[in-house]
Parts: sequence; structure tokens; C-alpha cells
Amino acid sequence: MKDEPNKRTVVTLITLILVAMVVALWLEQLKKKDGPEPHPNGSERSAESPKWRLSPLGPAPDWSQLDVYQQTITREMFLEDLTRYFTVSQSWMQYIDVQDDHALILKQSRVAGDYYRLNFAPASEEKPIQRDWRSGTELRAFVDQSNEKPLAGLHIAIDAGHIGGEWAQMEERWFKIGDGMPVTEGDMTLRVANLIKPRLAALGAQVSLVRESTQPLTSDRPETLMDVAKQNDPMLTGGFRTTKAAESLFYRTSEIRARAKMVNEKIRPDVVLCLHFNAVAWGDPALPTLVDENHLHILLNGAYTDEEIGYDDQRFEMLRKILQRTIHEEAALGAVMADVFAAQTGLPPYPYEPNSTRARQVANHPYLYARNLLANRIYNCPVIFFEPYVMNSHEVYERVQAGDYQGMPVVAGKPRKSIFREYADAVVDGLLEYYHKP
Ligand SMILES: [Zn+2]
Repeated sequence: MKDEPNKRTVVTLITLILVAMVVALWLEQLKKKDGPEPHPNGSERSAESPKWRLSPLGPAPDWSQLDVYQQTITREMFLEDLTRYFTVSQSWMQYIDVQDDHALILKQSRVAGDYYRLNFAPASEEKPIQRDWRSGTELRAFVDQSNEKPLAGLHIAIDAGHIGGEWAQMEERWFKIGDGMPVTEGDMTLRVANLIKPRLAALGAQVSLVRESTQPLTSDRPETLMDVAKQNDPMLTGGFRTTKAAESLFYRTSEIRARAKMVNEKIRPDVVLCLHFNAVAWGDPALPTLVDENHLHILLNGAYTDEEIGYDDQRFEMLRKILQRTIHEEAALGAVMADVFAAQTGLPPYPYEPNSTRARQVANHPYLYARNLLANRIYNCPVIFFEPYVMNSHEVYERVQAGDYQGMPVVAGKPRKSIFREYADAVVDGLLEYYHKP
């Protein structure tokens, strides 16, 4: 009998503890549904989630896509690429914690403590990497080294920069002097692409043009992006500034994202050549300033600024580039392309300021710089981004006015190929030099 009350107390206590546990579990479930806990699988969260810090129209990254690169890169190589090419300061340390045999990468800048763990390969045990593209070394091993089809096996995508046509003025790649022909970068790059394509095809390469006309690939238009423009920058006031921001989202961001979808999902090339013409500030497009300077440089993906590395999508995309070792292929191909281009055009290098916070010179090559551009970041393969000629230099202006032609008539003071053919020849010869060298 004496034990009875004690027994009852114990039973009551156990019941109370069980009830408390059930209530606690239930509360925990409720918290998971509504609370601020990060979703276990980040990719399922929408881009609107306030947790993610994303660039304009950027997708929330699915960090598990990096799983295929587990133990493929050594610690030494990871650190070397990260510090030498991909960053411009030590601010990456805020997001990436490099340990002995792994790195912890912050998945979301706004959520402390939620890391992606990347395990390093033990030294000398690097594994082959999963990627859709083949390097020059891989291609040279099996391409036909006879002279008949020297580029057989190579798949090249050509991205003629900008849109041109009726969009050239909106995208601010247009100027006109008096009764002269308007200078429109998007039309000029398409012209060069159309000269390059048949030449490479005749050499055996498979060639895809990312765009074939002066119409955008994206289905967005400035009108459909007004709300996004306002969301991106709540400080925007006035219809004019909002319209300008929506236009920029259209031709600069949405269009490049549409091209990336085409490159990554449909074309899947070994390399993308982004064709551009450079310029310096020309002021009023109807009364542009002409200058004497004229130069060339080639851009590779890297040099993420302190601000860019804080964006979750850009940090993820940088990691994917590092893990695919893209910079090494871009540097090898870019150096050959730059040498050939410089030799054939006589263009001097465009130097960035030595301590630039947005560019890094690559391999001490005077013409090669790493910069983080949307196109060279989100095209999921090596990208060679050409920036030759200053469109608003006296010389290039005259050459553009002369249009495309055959032969070597005197233009801008000396016998020259058309500027479009000179560009196309330099690209074709550079590719031959790189992929066909014994
Ligand atoms: Zn351009």
C-alpha cells in the first residue's frame, strides 16, 4: 500500500513528460513550417525568399549541384585559383572557410552557419571532373590532325554581343555622326559572326550562333520588367528612371540569361566566343566624341568583386567555375587568341589599372584579364570574351564607314582588310593555332 501513491506519482510524471514531449515536437513542426529556419534543400525556395541574396533575375542556387565535384580538387589548387584569379581581396574569407581537407562555403549570406561542405581531393589524387565541354588537350588528342578538316570534332558557339537593329539605341550601343552610317555594335558583331561561321564549318568545326538575327532571345520586354525594376531598387523614383532600369534588365540581364539557357541546355559547346567591339565614353550619341586611342583585350571569367561574392548565386557560380577548372582552359586558349589577334591587327593592349578591384591580369599576359561578366559567368563552359577596337576612335570610325569589302583598299590612311574580315580572320586563325597545333 505504501508504494501505491509513489507508483501513481511516477505514472503521472511519465504521462506529463510524454505530453510535454508531444507538445514540444508539435511546436517544433509549426516553427519549421512558418519560422525562419533555412529550408534543408535551398533550391526549392523561390527566388523571392528574403533569405537569399540574389543578383537581378538570378536563380536561387542548388548547392547540391556541386556534389559531383566532391574530392576532385586539391586544397592547394582550390586556394591557388580562388586567390589568384577569382577574387580581388580577402573578403572571400567572410563566406569560405578553408580547412585542411575541406572547405565550408556559406550557402546564404544572410543565414549564419549554413554551409556547403566541399571535400578536397588528397594531394595527387584528383579525380576526373564532370563537365559538358572538352579542353584543347582532350580535343587535340582525337581531332583529325590531317590538314583537310583540322577543326573536326570541335563544337563552337558564337555569341554576337548585344542585340543591334531596332534595339541598338535602347541598349546604348549606337552613335551617329551627321549623315554618316550609324555605328551599332550589335549589328557589327553579328556581321563578324556570320563571316566566321562558314569559315569554321569549312575547317570541320560544328558552329552554333547563339543569335542569328537582331531580335532578342528573351521573351521579356522592358514593359514586363517594370515591377522587377522597382523591386530591385525601391529607391527608384519617377517613370523615366524606372523605365531605364527596366530596359537595362531587358537587354543586359534577361537577354543574357536567355542566351545562357540556349548555350547550357541546347548548344552545349566546347567553348563560347563572345564577340564585342570596345568603345570609350562618347557622350551624346548624336554628337559623339571621337578619340585617338584604339586597343584590344580579352576577358576570362574571374575577379569577383567584394560585393559580387556576397551574392549567393554569384558565389555558387564562381565555385562551379573553379571546380570545372574553366580558367585554365580560358587562359590557354585566350593567350593564343590574343597573340594572333594582336599580331594581325597591331592593336596595343588595353591595360586595367594595376590595383583594379574589378579585373585581374591573367598569366602576366598583356592582353588577358579576368573579369566577372554575366555572360562569362553563367555560360557553363569556357568563354573567350573579345574586346577589340575602340568604335569611337577616328580610325575605327572610318573603317566602319567603309563597310565590309574584299581586298585591301586604302582606308583610314593605309591598305587594309575590312574591319569585319580582319576580326573574323584573327578569330579563325587563333582557333586553328590553338586546336590544331601538334
Ligand atoms: Zn559590347
